[in-house]
Amino acid sequence: MSTPWHVLGAGSLGTLWATRLARAGLPVRLIVRDAERLRSYQVAGGLTLVEHGAATTYAVPAQTADDPEPIRRLLVACKAYDAESAVARLAPRLSADAELILLQNGLGSQDAVAAQVPQARCISASSTEGAFRDGDWRVVFAGHGFTWLGDASHPVAPIWLDDLDAAKIPHEWSTDILTRLWRKLALNCAINPLTVLHDCRNGGLEQHQCEVATLCAELAELLERCGQPAAAVNLQQEVERVIHATAANYSSMYQDVANQRRTEISYLLGHACKVATRHQLNLPHLNQLQQRLVGHLRSLGLPSD
Ligand code: NAP
Repeated sequence: MSTPWHVLGAGSLGTLWATRLARAGLPVRLIVRDAERLRSYQVAGGLTLVEHGAATTYAVPAQTADDPEPIRRLLVACKAYDAESAVARLAPRLSADAELILLQNGLGSQDAVAAQVPQARCISASSTEGAFRDGDWRVVFAGHGFTWLGDASHPVAPIWLDDLDAAKIPHEWSTDILTRLWRKLALNCAINPLTVLHDCRNGGLEQHQCEVATLCAELAELLERCGQPAAAVNLQQEVERVIHATAANYSSMYQDVANQRRTEISYLLGHACKVATRHQLNLPHLNQLQQRLVGHLRSLGLPSD
């Protein structure tokens, strides 16, 4: 029998992966937060994926972190700020050859997770797929996309990519996953905080081209200084292209703030500022952006980390 996929976190991306793997007949176990969430899940009877307007429920077996079953393959699908502590609870269950797939946006959480489980192989992912929850245990597949997977310390692809083919999860093994994660982080830093501070859709930033250009210049300097020059190439042009192509959308950070949810700021803009400081790089506009965003989040009573 093939190795079970343990999926940690039954949110948007966790459900999107768990349901597609289960649909392909692969063994999947869902790990939920606690006994109360487990009871709630059991009442619901499974995970529901809404795709092209049609809802299908998959009775994926669920458990809590206290379950004794050993884990060989763990998909970490919680938010960046929850990943380290959630994985730490599972560390005693990991087998000697365990592999973790980290779906978190931004940077910083991957290293924090890896430090909790030094014996395991940690694979990072960068995804353009989009999903959101429209109810408990129910997820809408909103944007078809692509997922890049890679391991900065070991270029050989894992055998379980075959499972992703079977589950029709579009993906590619990447030997430069860090560059992809940095590039995505830079795009996020140039767009998302400004959409929150200017209270606008992505397209609203077309009215703030100078501010965007100044941030892109500082971000490119940072990428070059921290050994990611490829992630800096034509950054401003790509930021402008994304702003134009997604003009009608609200950024993920905008949506988090609008829904009074905690943002992943520490793993995005916060991480960029922290790395700049570590390299003794003075990036005044990026720092000021962070201070404005932190002040704004505090004024709304939201966590600023
Ligand atoms: P989400 O919908 O908030 O789901 C996170 C899930 O993690 C929640 O179900 C939460 O449980 C669960 N969780 C947290 N701590 C846990 C613990 N200790 N044990 C078990 N479960 C735990 O988040 P998401 O949108 O899927 O995002 C996950 C990551 O993917 C983020 O870093 C995000 O930036 C990235 N990402 C998301 C998308 C997207 O379209 N959604 C796209 C690209 C990248 P509760 O339900 O009990 O709160």
